[in-house]
Amino acid sequence: MRIHEYQSKMMFSRYGIPIPNGRVASTASEARQIAEELGVRVVVKAQVLVGGRGKAGGIRLAKTPKEAEELASTILGMDIKGLPVRKVLVDEAISINKEIFLSITNDRDTCQPVMIASEAGGIDIEEVASRMPDKIIKVYIDPLLGLHDYQARDIAAGIDLPHVSWKSFSSVARGLWRAFWENDATLAEINPLVVTQDHKLVALDGKVIFDDNAMFRHPDQVEMRDQDVDTPSETSARKYGLSYVKLEGQIGCIVNGAGLAMATMDIIKLFGGEPANFLDIGGGASADKVAAAFRLVAADANVKVVLINIFGGITRCDEVAHGLLLALSELKSPIPVVVRLAGTNSDEGLRLLADAHIITAETFVEAAQKATAVVVKRGEG
Ligand code: GDP
Ligand code: MN
Repeated sequence: MRIHEYQSKMMFSRYGIPIPNGRVASTASEARQIAEELGVRVVVKAQVLVGGRGKAGGIRLAKTPKEAEELASTILGMDIKGLPVRKVLVDEAISINKEIFLSITNDRDTCQPVMIASEAGGIDIEEVASRMPDKIIKVYIDPLLGLHDYQARDIAAGIDLPHVSWKSFSSVARGLWRAFWENDATLAEINPLVVTQDHKLVALDGKVIFDDNAMFRHPDQVEMRDQDVDTPSETSARKYGLSYVKLEGQIGCIVNGAGLAMATMDIIKLFGGEPANFLDIGGGASADKVAAAFRLVAADANVKVVLINIFGGITRCDEVAHGLLLALSELKSPIPVVVRLAGTNSDEGLRLLADAHIITAETFVEAAQKATAVVVKRGEG
């Protein structure tokens, strides 16, 4: 999960990394108020989860609070690379002497965290890497030992940082390491880390990505999620603990277990159909989870038929059937449903469904054939 610049910088600040004074605003008048409080020239920055905001006009300098209000009003109405701007960060403007790139990520080749730095900061680091590879310094970090002072000094020397700034650089580098490590991040990046006219270091931009698989250890991260960037279906899937990926086909799939979900997509293709989604409802799926899954799939306008393929182990097939009947009675959906239930309480489940005139199937192959037949019959195959 990626968080916004303002959230990243607030986190950096807790690890002793200097950031500009400033606050986030959702309205233009709030932006004006923040600029008034700061009492200096400010930058107004679009908070969207994409890079290159500067080039897209999402970062503007304001000399007066009135100008900050006007710029905020423009930026808050913008779309940057398809994402609407809902918040702006109003920061005191900093006079820049030098822009540095400083980042930590996991290196897959060495299976270690790596700190990457460059004196060519501010711009696209991929561009630096391809045009001036010698301008990139890498230092590998042993997570048990952390970042050593000598490593931070090596980087400072490598990026030609004036000696007066080495000590503060060490402190920023160590702070970034701790922020990365203690929060189970997969990326913690400052671009640019600027050297000011008076040799101070300030993190002007921040980008942090957390490892979704470690989020259960960090309740504070869950609260940082920006609901605005997720589609309603993704938000709903997360709420019910469903793994859902939307695809382009017409056969909606509701399956328990990731492996079975993949196999279901394969077999749909085998019989000439296209899956509309990947959806794993997980083990021990309760009736309300199944109902939520059905609502999710049925909300996709492309879906012409829903294939439900459940192998009951911990999951009870009668419970799945109840969930489905619940969803169907609630939605009154005209979408045909093909169900294959096997395993725990499958007989009871199938009987419940047959009574409700739902297409049932004994085997996996039969289910896939029946589902693809619906699409083909409608001339959509
Ligand atoms: P990005 O384009 O999304 O990466 O946004 P950044 O926050 O990195 O800003 C892009 C560029 O705008 C920076 O590299 C700086 O050159 C410039 N910039 C951002 N904040 C300030 C500031 O406070 N003062 C000055 N002079 N330039 C700034
Ligand atoms: Mn940047």
